[in-house]
Amino acid sequence: MTEQKLFDNTEIAFELKTDSELERAYFLFKMISHQPLVRIGTAATNFAIKANLPVEGLIRATVFDHFCGGVNEEDCIPVIDKMFTKGVCTVLDYSVEGKESEDQFDAVAKRTIEIINFAAEKEAMPIAVFKPTGLGRFALYEKVGSGELLSQEEEEEWSRVIDRYHKICGIAKEKDVEILIDAEESWMQDAADDLVEEMMKTYNKAKPIVYNTLQTYRWDRLSYLKDLHNKSKRDGFKIGMKIVRGAYMEKERVRAEEHDYPSPICKDKETTDVNFNDSMRFILEHIGEISLFIGTHNEESCYLAIELMNEIGISIDDNRVWFGQLYGMSDHISFNLAKKGYNIAKYLPFGPVKDVMPYLIRRAEENTSVAGQTSRELNLLKEEKERRKL
Ligand SMILES: Cc1cc2nc3c(=O)[nH]c(=O)nc-3n(C[C@H](O)[C@H](O)[C@H](O)COP(=O)(O)OP(=O)(O)OC[C@H]3O[C@@H](n4cnc5c(N)ncnc54)[C@H](O)[C@@H]3O)c2cc1C
Repeated sequence: MTEQKLFDNTEIAFELKTDSELERAYFLFKMISHQPLVRIGTAATNFAIKANLPVEGLIRATVFDHFCGGVNEEDCIPVIDKMFTKGVCTVLDYSVEGKESEDQFDAVAKRTIEIINFAAEKEAMPIAVFKPTGLGRFALYEKVGSGELLSQEEEEEWSRVIDRYHKICGIAKEKDVEILIDAEESWMQDAADDLVEEMMKTYNKAKPIVYNTLQTYRWDRLSYLKDLHNKSKRDGFKIGMKIVRGAYMEKERVRAEEHDYPSPICKDKETTDVNFNDSMRFILEHIGEISLFIGTHNEESCYLAIELMNEIGISIDDNRVWFGQLYGMSDHISFNLAKKGYNIAKYLPFGPVKDVMPYLIRRAEENTSVAGQTSRELNLLKEEKERRKL
């Protein structure tokens, strides 16, 4: 098989799935490929959850079990162990979103630290993750980033956010577990970027433990990366960087228009792709100073990463380069790369069903077909069903 055909192997991709699991996944992607169905389903589910109707069982049996590991860490263990038999690692992702109280921020910090401690004992979990807004109020990040003066109370609140970052990153360093920090909307991201940079300065002296996230659908990110690289050389710290395209495009565009400022998003998909690939190339060319986590389901970018690693002379299993996909998606990339010996970690979300709904809705929308095309996941599942003669 030639390198270009690496991801076409559906047998390896779905090796862990029984026939009935394969049928269930096919049925699920078939359902969510219908845009009106997703729209109606989303509205109905949101309503049912708010009205406390007993829909959790239905959600669990369908989207939840496909895209999530369970409601708590224990539920996820069989999934983690199973994927690891094929060389695929896990990044446990506590995917509860939209909580805004101090108690909840403390709870997320505590949970993240527990996951790091757990990961330190488990070979299958070399990396942990958190979201900036899991540890502090969105509006507070926004205010800090805007440079506006904070009230005394807000100053104290912000120092508690900083404290949570230090606690998590400190434990990550102590336990030698890399910690990824997700990126969110651009109007809160400046404050998060500054904070993550502080963490890198403190905890990445010897090696990259703390990773920020570069959203390459933003046209300003490659120059941000180059600036950070210069600072790291000047101040003597290493950079950890996860690169993604970015998940909030519509929201970004709408806000820019409403507030009458230039959109921070690239003008089209192709520009985003070029930006992603250029950022990846820049990092791989500076691998001694920047470690890379490639978060993508894009086959071309993964093939390019393979090519560049080969060209630059970075070995397949070099610990400074990781590929990552989301659980329930793009197994053809994850499992085929793992089989070849590349470092792969899948994000495995977990949390109470109703709290992970925003995450699940994003996944459903992402897999909804555009203009009647069959989604890639659906095609792959169909191919494997045919191969197994189901
Ligand atoms: C492991 C992992 C971690 C992730 N972490 C984050 C995170 O921290 N923050 C975050 O925001 N997202 C994150 N994502 C999601 C990611 O940003 C993308 O939304 C998703 O992966 C789809 O992009 P892609 O590279 O897989 O592939 P593709 O399907 O090739 O690209 C789709 C993406 O291209 C961009 N795009 C599409 N149309 C246009 C257009 N017209 N103009 C400009 N750009 C366009 C958008 O970003 C869109 O999501 C993560 C994804 C993975 C797999």
